[in-house]
Amino acid sequence: AKELGKNNYQFFTAEMNNMMAKKMNLEIGLRKAIENHEFELYYQPQIGVNTGKMTGVEALIRWNHPEIGLVPPNDFIPLAEETGLIIPMGYWILRVASQQAKKWIDQGFDDLRMSVNISSRQFQQPDFVAAVQTILSETGLPAKNLELELTESIVQNPKSALPVMEQLKAMGVKLSLDDFGTGYSSLSYLRSFPLDTLKIDKSFIRYINEEIKDEAIVKTIINMAHSLKLNVIAEGVETEEQLSLLSDNDCHEFQGYLFSRPVKADELQEILENHKAY
Ligand code: C2E
Ligand code: CA
Ligand code: CA
Ligand code: CA
Repeated sequence: AKELGKNNYQFFTAEMNNMMAKKMNLEIGLRKAIENHEFELYYQPQIGVNTGKMTGVEALIRWNHPEIGLVPPNDFIPLAEETGLIIPMGYWILRVASQQAKKWIDQGFDDLRMSVNISSRQFQQPDFVAAVQTILSETGLPAKNLELELTESIVQNPKSALPVMEQLKAMGVKLSLDDFGTGYSSLSYLRSFPLDTLKIDKSFIRYINEEIKDEAIVKTIINMAHSLKLNVIAEGVETEEQLSLLSDNDCHEFQGYLFSRPVKADELQEILENHKAY
């Protein structure tokens, strides 16, 4: 039994070492990824539920690792946050997304809204507002065309978050609350924060046609958004059945594989050009 215990222990440390080595490799790779041009932004359309018109796009980062291949954001964003690399990476994302949005606006898609995910660590940087301002002036993107997607972890600390949100609003930037319903949902911040949009998390949408409870939650969020005069977007919409339930409940916009996966800029360009309803 003693031997077995020892072996188990060794096996465990080997696993641990392996995991730590992997993590360190990822971190080393992450440090070089920007300068090596390994990141790319993909864009996913957001569509009016009743109009069918494209209202905006969400920028989603992709990492093309030279050896591993495509690394999903859920595998490297947390590491980037932990190491602080999210700060330079986050500004790179904002800059590239703003440049791209400006290009599309110049082609005549005037009202296109560019939604960019902001990590809490980036939002908490003392120079965050100034950096957003700089990026807007350098790229020429009108503030009203930029929407920042914040998660509930950001708004967890209302005392520090509120003034930052108010400064961004004063600049004309739009604010969206992402993954709504999954976090530390305190409804009180919904009325105190200057939000424009609520995004219903895809975990509530997935079984909306099968699970009466999920349907009830989604209906409640949509009704709440209506009474608070907020735009409401459902994410992760994959089927016509899901869309029709959202339509019955007057959800404003949707996003999901049903319309399009996140695609490269040139593919989104084609969607914009062919999507005459815009
Ligand atoms: P999120 O902000 O909630 O983004 C939505 C995720 O749902 C994206 O995953 C998107 O590809 C996926 N998705 C879209 N439509 C569907 C659908 O119909 N069905 C399903 N099952 N999934 C769908 P992705 O791109 O892997 O990103 C995962 C998370 O990583 C994001 O969740 C966000 O939290 C983070 N992330 C991605 N890009 C960025 C970024 O540029 N900056 C920051 N800070 N975080 C990012
Ligand atoms: Ca998002
Ligand atoms: Ca989400
Ligand atoms: Ca998320």
